[in-house]
Amino acid sequence: MNKEVRVRFAPSPTGALHIGGVRTALYNYLYARKTGGKFLLRIEDTDQNRFVPGAEEYIKGALDWLGISPDESPWNPGNSSPYRQSERKPMYMQYALDLIEKGHAYYAFDTSEELDAMRERLTAARVVSPQYNSITRTQMKNSLTLPEDEVKARLASGEAYVIRIKIPRKEEVRLHDLIRGWVMVHSSTLDDKVLMKSDGMPTYHLANIVDDHLMKITHVIRGEEWLPSAPLHVLLYKYFGWEDTMPEFAHLPLLLKPDGNGKLSKRDADKHGFPVFPMDWKDPNSGETAMGFREGGYLPEAMLNFLAFLGWNPGDHKEIFSLEELVEAFSIERIGKSGTKFDINKAKWFNEQYLRAKSDEELAAYLIADIEKEGLSIDKEKAAKIAHVMKERATFPADLWKEGKFMLIAPSKFDDEIAGKRWNAEVVTVLATYIEKLAAHTGEFTPEIAKAVLEESAEANGIKLGKVMQAVRLAVTGVGAGPDLMAVFSIIGKEELSKRIKFALDTLQVL
Ligand code: GLU
Repeated sequence: MNKEVRVRFAPSPTGALHIGGVRTALYNYLYARKTGGKFLLRIEDTDQNRFVPGAEEYIKGALDWLGISPDESPWNPGNSSPYRQSERKPMYMQYALDLIEKGHAYYAFDTSEELDAMRERLTAARVVSPQYNSITRTQMKNSLTLPEDEVKARLASGEAYVIRIKIPRKEEVRLHDLIRGWVMVHSSTLDDKVLMKSDGMPTYHLANIVDDHLMKITHVIRGEEWLPSAPLHVLLYKYFGWEDTMPEFAHLPLLLKPDGNGKLSKRDADKHGFPVFPMDWKDPNSGETAMGFREGGYLPEAMLNFLAFLGWNPGDHKEIFSLEELVEAFSIERIGKSGTKFDINKAKWFNEQYLRAKSDEELAAYLIADIEKEGLSIDKEKAAKIAHVMKERATFPADLWKEGKFMLIAPSKFDDEIAGKRWNAEVVTVLATYIEKLAAHTGEFTPEIAKAVLEESAEANGIKLGKVMQAVRLAVTGVGAGPDLMAVFSIIGKEELSKRIKFALDTLQVL
């Protein structure tokens, strides 16, 4: 029997969750759903200095918004409680001590001055990246170099210490990644990372491995930036004797700047005016608010679809996938190795597709809310009609009102350029006739009727309607372009239409 798949998203609450983190969460979610497994959320808050209030709630809020909430988390715990590393603090020391016992870790008493001095010495000796490692540790103050009695005395006196992993001098560390295949690293390139800090907190590396083991994680799906740490993690599994249950690794490709040069950053996003956070984030330290996709008008289902395609593809041309369809189609094998450009236009495209797929009634709700914010009112039926006409031209729900305002509010001025080019005696004649014919018309005012009556008005004067059409639009909407004009006329209604035309005839001059 295959064991149950358990995957985890393990963010550190150090600020707003970056969109790359959201993609990691999504891939974990998809994999869990696909395999009938469990998706866990673990808060990695061992670095107390970097803890930012509100960051945890933000992570929860973002996943809830997207509909990819975890099966187990601090808010809905399963059998692996607690789900916050700070609450698991008492568990870690025994594991570090176990490694010391087995000869794979050691106490280090070096002060920060001594560490600095070591780095300076190495830099002076032209060592490119000075490290506490299998060579330098022989000259430092640790339980490998100090006599046993002295180590005991130092520990007994309460002197500050850290516990470091003892990386072997010459060993090939091999690790298998589901996306990259075999990765080989020589241990001489690794340093003796701190596992337990002097404040009694584990570092990320120790806590992460211990927790993945205790929480029975079967697959570690995370960003590529963690690939360099993976050899250390593999060594830890080996030293703990947990090789048999070591999870499989899948390191996701980086998200790149829109031009493909380097990693996507908040700075690029600010420069190009697009969000990199799922929701608005008010930084509690700076007080600054960073823009979120949610508040920017991105729909959660569009976001999911967009994020899924940032590094994964289904292998055919289909692009629109509901969450259920993503679950169905998803596989780790189809995740690419190379970085993916973050193309905000693609995100907008997805948003447009999902917006258009919504019913007029659903879209009307957005429109009504925006209209009411301005102290105006509209009935549902009319709002649905406006939404229907506007949705082909909208990227975000807010565009429906922004671009469709003119249907409720008559223009008070007209586009000068269009007026200069198009307003002439012919359009004046056609519109004057149109008003008369509108007044005589009874019954429902459909787009077809609006058009038929306008055509009659042109024909009656021997004028080709096509020639004056843009000026007709100008008279009614104030501008030279927009959605289907006859649909607009029908929505505006006969009386309002005539009023607007009269105003245009009174205001615009034929040059
Ligand atoms: N706490 C790490 C982070 O913030 C987790 C990395 C991992 O998934 O192992 O991304």
